[in-house]
Amino acid sequence: MHPEAAPSAVAVPAEPLLRVEGLTKHFPVFRGFFRRRVGTVRAVDDVSFTLGRKQTLAVVGESGCGKTTAGRALLRLVEPDAGHVWFRGKNLPTLGADELRETRRHMQIIFQDPYSSLNPRHTIGQIIGRPLLLHGVCKTDAEAEDFVRALLERVGLQPKYISRYPHEFSGGQRQRIGIARAIALRPEFVVCDEAVSALDVSVRAQVLNLLMDLQDEFGLSYVFVTHDLSVVRHIADDVVVMYLGQIVEKAPRASMFARPSHPYTQALLSAAPEPDPAKRRKRIILSGDVPSPMNPPPGCRFHTRCPLAFDRCKIDTPAPHAVSDGHTVACHLYEGRTEPIDLAARIAG
Ligand code: SF4
Repeated sequence: MHPEAAPSAVAVPAEPLLRVEGLTKHFPVFRGFFRRRVGTVRAVDDVSFTLGRKQTLAVVGESGCGKTTAGRALLRLVEPDAGHVWFRGKNLPTLGADELRETRRHMQIIFQDPYSSLNPRHTIGQIIGRPLLLHGVCKTDAEAEDFVRALLERVGLQPKYISRYPHEFSGGQRQRIGIARAIALRPEFVVCDEAVSALDVSVRAQVLNLLMDLQDEFGLSYVFVTHDLSVVRHIADDVVVMYLGQIVEKAPRASMFARPSHPYTQALLSAAPEPDPAKRRKRIILSGDVPSPMNPPPGCRFHTRCPLAFDRCKIDTPAPHAVSDGHTVACHLYEGRTEPIDLAARIAG
């Protein structure tokens, strides 16, 4: 056999379920009587990542960092201004209304506040059952009712609740209803937008475990938008950290927690509660507030708060530098460097 005809020993990496490239969303800001445009909020700026099948990607950062807008732009609940979102071989931002509607059944969202996303005038049976009939998953009302009863049971609610209204449930129960509605059409991909943030700690753990069980059972992939690092530690396979609309660090979970590298990530992790005293990090207090996303600083957007900033940071936007397999850091200090810089030690020294 000709050497060139021999089968390649190099494995071709599997195509991810979701590939996001250069996702951008800016919001115009209007003021005054004549609603004159006075600026632009750069909520999401050139964000790229991939999500593997049956994987969970956590998107973390402080409020206002753009993580919620990014999650919604993926599903076109807000229209992106630029970028590609490849899903099932289609680039979502380019789809027409019919194709988008058909594709949407494969991707769903679970909101932080389930109450505001559940129609108060509809019963739980109607809320979960109607999309089943609309998409032809069930042919008759009776079939849809059986389906919804089984679904309620699967998410830990009693099937007899089918004729109750949203206000008759607790916060945790409503979130279970939100989950049942999200998985009813058997999606492949679900955005969980701060899905457990409003729940009590004990209920939060139950709902997280339910989400993980459902992931195994139905082969779901999650983009988990959250500010809560204990949730990230519990559920994520991969993590991206956002600051002022941009990704500053991206890594597999273990690498992110063992070797956080970007100064912002180190500060964020140092503020997270750690039950094991041996693993507690020295607290890093950043000075100043997060600048307005309407007027983000030039160069590295973190330079106004970064204790390690130097002249170049005010001018040049840092490119992502690889520090280990799948772990990238957008910081000039990692040009040609892979070892994390210990920000806490630098500050103390
Ligand atoms: Fe800090 Fe400069 Fe790195 Fe930005 S690029 S994180 S300002 S050192």
